[in-house]
Amino acid sequence: MTTETFEFQVEARQLLQLMIHSVYSNKDVFLRELVSNASDALDKLRLAKLRDDALDADVSDLHIEIDTDAEARTLTVRDNGIGMSYDEVGQLIGTIAHSGTAEFAKELREAQDADSAEGLIGQFGVGFYSGFMVADEMTLVTRHAGESHGTRWSSRGEGTYSLETVDDAPQGTSVTLHLKPADDEDKLHDYTSAWTIRDIVKRYSDFITWPIRTVPRQGEDGTVPEAETLNSMKALWARSREEVSDDEYHELYKHISHDWREPLETIRLQAEGTFEYQALLFVPSHAPHDLYTQGYKRGVQLYVKRVFIMDDCEALLPSYLRFVKGVVDAADLSLNVSREILQQDRHIRMMQRRLTKKLLSTVKEMRENAPERYATFWREFGSVLKEGLLSDSDNRETLLAAASFASTHAEDGLTTLTAYVERMKDGQEDIYYLTGESRESIENSPHMEAFRAKGIEVLLLTDAVDEVWVDVVGEFEGKRLRSVAKGEVDLDGESEERADGEREKQGEEYAALLGWMKEQLGDDIKEVRLSARLTVSPSCLVSDTGDLTPALENMYRAMGQ
Ligand code: ADP
Ligand code: MG
Repeated sequence: MTTETFEFQVEARQLLQLMIHSVYSNKDVFLRELVSNASDALDKLRLAKLRDDALDADVSDLHIEIDTDAEARTLTVRDNGIGMSYDEVGQLIGTIAHSGTAEFAKELREAQDADSAEGLIGQFGVGFYSGFMVADEMTLVTRHAGESHGTRWSSRGEGTYSLETVDDAPQGTSVTLHLKPADDEDKLHDYTSAWTIRDIVKRYSDFITWPIRTVPRQGEDGTVPEAETLNSMKALWARSREEVSDDEYHELYKHISHDWREPLETIRLQAEGTFEYQALLFVPSHAPHDLYTQGYKRGVQLYVKRVFIMDDCEALLPSYLRFVKGVVDAADLSLNVSREILQQDRHIRMMQRRLTKKLLSTVKEMRENAPERYATFWREFGSVLKEGLLSDSDNRETLLAAASFASTHAEDGLTTLTAYVERMKDGQEDIYYLTGESRESIENSPHMEAFRAKGIEVLLLTDAVDEVWVDVVGEFEGKRLRSVAKGEVDLDGESEERADGEREKQGEEYAALLGWMKEQLGDDIKEVRLSARLTVSPSCLVSDTGDLTPALENMYRAMGQ
């Protein structure tokens, strides 16, 4: 068979350089990543076989093996899962197929020193390639379920990798690392030691639902001991909260989300009765880079009685909670359930409502009891949560109560609508806001002048979605939400009526000027009128209710509408 050599994509090459010279302090995680991939591959094969019994694959003993050889200085992680075809290896392993690749590459180029590069690794997470933190060469042999030929991929992580077709590949995938020279002092990180491997697996992969076994070596007396299963295989969501440590939950989060950082919140939920399910949900601590793109993959996995059914199950949570990761294990669904069926299912809809309520109440609790965590949450996910104000009228009140906004009340920090209402001036009927690109641009807007002069608080809304929800929602606790930029704003309440006569007189006086301006500006504007809203600027542009801005068009596109 011929061996072909390929060059890594530029981004992949950069990433590999980073791995090879890695200063990432926790190199042990490479094993977690390889085990995580193996576990996914086993999930996929079991499912493929369930869907198609004729598939030529053996699912009688699905497992993961970790095989070490101290003399050869190798470590192999082997699974008998779904495997990859020749083309898949090229696509999945030869490039960085991750979301946010462009972002990553850009930040990587900008990372000046080792410390910031280390931060990047932790931030983006690098699955398979993390092997190069400890290996100077990686080899992967794989065969896709149902295919007769296998593929061998190999690389020293430098600029190129080689691919060849092999005849005799066993089912699944094996990844062999040739370990970098040993540091004799560092017994803790000797990856050929059974003790080290057992410790790492226990720490990071105990909950993996497939057996992770060692491969026993022949002893001096010629006998071969039994293979040892290193993990307990207990699904975390099926265990009681007291039994599971936060660290264990966090490792499950990392496995599901492919994020290397800790989650912000862990939420456990259980329902018994006619429709039984267990849910373990996580709120990440950072918004993913592709949250607003159409291809964004949600992170809640569906299981049926411990059997993995699908990734990114969109029926489980509304779109505005698409950043939530986790597992839902439902007892009463068919293993063959499809996405279409799930969308229709009455029980699933009930479950979605319950999970949504639970998540929103968690946000509320966070706000009340953990202001710092709430601040992080709102910074990362506030704008996507506000999409719910448009789509989820059932939870509108809860969402409004959970939301925070920048306001002229304070230079920094956010306010709630409730606090705004409490501060409203005597005689002030409405909640005022202005939307714009940034706090600064809003504050410099001529629309703000009269409000500043009168000391009336204005909410400063800078997310694209803000322009829409304020119209859709319309009011809070009986107070109208009013843009200071749209149409007429009545600042003085009843005094305005008295002013009316005067306004009319002024109108006549300035009719010629207004007419001339309208003529000059032509189709660019709808109307020219006199205003009481300005104190310093001679004029300003006002939009009519219902006009779409470019920021909004982008948002709608991102939401797939
Ligand atoms: P991620 O797991 O986040 O997708 P990785 O770098 O860990 O990223 O792996 C890239 C892809 O390579 C996986 O998504 C999967 O499709 C494929 N892959 C990796 N390891 C295996 C394996 N053991 N069996 C089958 N496919 C694998
Ligand atoms: Mg992975």
